[in-house]
Amino acid sequence: MQLYSTNNKNLKVSLKDAVMQSLAPDKGLYMPEVIPVLPSGFIADLDAFTFQEIAYEVSHALIGDYISSVDLRRIIDEAINFDAPVTMLNDQIGALELWHGPSLAFKDFGARFMAALMSYFIQGENKKLTILVATSGDTGGAVASGFYKIPGIEVIILYPSGKVSDLQEKQLTTLGENITALEIKGTFDDCQSMVKEAFLDAGLNQKYHLSSANSINISRLIPQSFYYFEAWKQVRKFGKDVVFSVPSGNFGNLTAGLMARKMGLPVKRFIAATNINKIVPDYLQSGVYKPKPSVSTISNAMDVGNPSNFTRILDLYNQDHAAITKDIEGFYLDDNGTRDAMKDAYKRYGYICDPHGAIGYQSLCHIGQNELGLFLETAHPAKFLDTVQETLGMHITVPEALASLANKSKKAVMMRSDYKDFQDYMMQR
Ligand SMILES: *Cc1c(COP(=O)(O)O)cnc(C)c1O
Repeated sequence: MQLYSTNNKNLKVSLKDAVMQSLAPDKGLYMPEVIPVLPSGFIADLDAFTFQEIAYEVSHALIGDYISSVDLRRIIDEAINFDAPVTMLNDQIGALELWHGPSLAFKDFGARFMAALMSYFIQGENKKLTILVATSGDTGGAVASGFYKIPGIEVIILYPSGKVSDLQEKQLTTLGENITALEIKGTFDDCQSMVKEAFLDAGLNQKYHLSSANSINISRLIPQSFYYFEAWKQVRKFGKDVVFSVPSGNFGNLTAGLMARKMGLPVKRFIAATNINKIVPDYLQSGVYKPKPSVSTISNAMDVGNPSNFTRILDLYNQDHAAITKDIEGFYLDDNGTRDAMKDAYKRYGYICDPHGAIGYQSLCHIGQNELGLFLETAHPAKFLDTVQETLGMHITVPEALASLANKSKKAVMMRSDYKDFQDYMMQR
């Protein structure tokens, strides 16, 4: 199985090239040439498999051509070393909690799997790999923790000064070792454009073996398909048709769900849940895809005006709008609606949603009699402490992994939002 670019199906590369390049040279996104259907016996027997075994079976079917079984098992055991439990709120609605990893957001799955794969692919190479990543919050923390102390790889994180939460900043700036944080006096877009420019910089590419850890990398999507199988396994006993509601920004998570379905997982339908950056819900209604500048909301990880993985969804459905709308329903809430949803989940079920998961929760309030809805709870509510405490009017306990960061000291290099400064820094270090 090779991977092709969504801009040109004849442009095909190996898994290693797709993972190392992230973006195809023609700016398309890589997709697996074949999405294999898993044996029906596997689905029927899913209960007999642990989460790690499911992850192995799914990834082996997808990328087993490139990695031996022994190595793939090791990669899975290293990367997917925490659970994805479903908490049922009643007998029809459940939360698929994806925040049990080290940075307390679902991005740990993608970041850890990518780190393990890259580390595998650079074995035997003598040039150190330097990962550049721009973050608006959650990605940086997951990537920092995923790549921490991995031999042969260093990570340089660019984040916008004053625009990430205190806890998010601590996650980026307190590890040290092979993780360096650059605090940019600018916006997330400035950070992103500096990273983009670096990839085109001949001098930097001479000095460094550069790669990127952004969410369009196919190695971040693959592990996100695992937990759809794991969740389905946990709720099959209810005997209902399973619906997944996916709080979405760049639409990587939803794309991974659609891939799981293509691999044979019996999912009835998906809900694309967004905040008022509702580009995809609008597309589902009108058939017209119209990117817009993003608007800030309390579910900031979904403040995306031109979702990068949307092109993968179009590709999976051969651009067929009717087919897409058959499988995916759109839903969105503004900030007030999001706060009401958080209050409702707490009042009815005593369940504390983060602002992203809350939109998924609310989208399930009208599901059918014979349906069972799971919303993806994409981050621990304590990551959005102020919003959650203000909305619910109560104190939230911060998990030890986050609380202990408060006492660690921040180490970051302050920098103007000017490519020249970044270039000088990189050439001199
Ligand atoms: C990144 C993120 C999302 C959006 O996920 P996509 O795969 O980009 O659609 C939703 N919620 C949280 C908490 C996130 O960190």
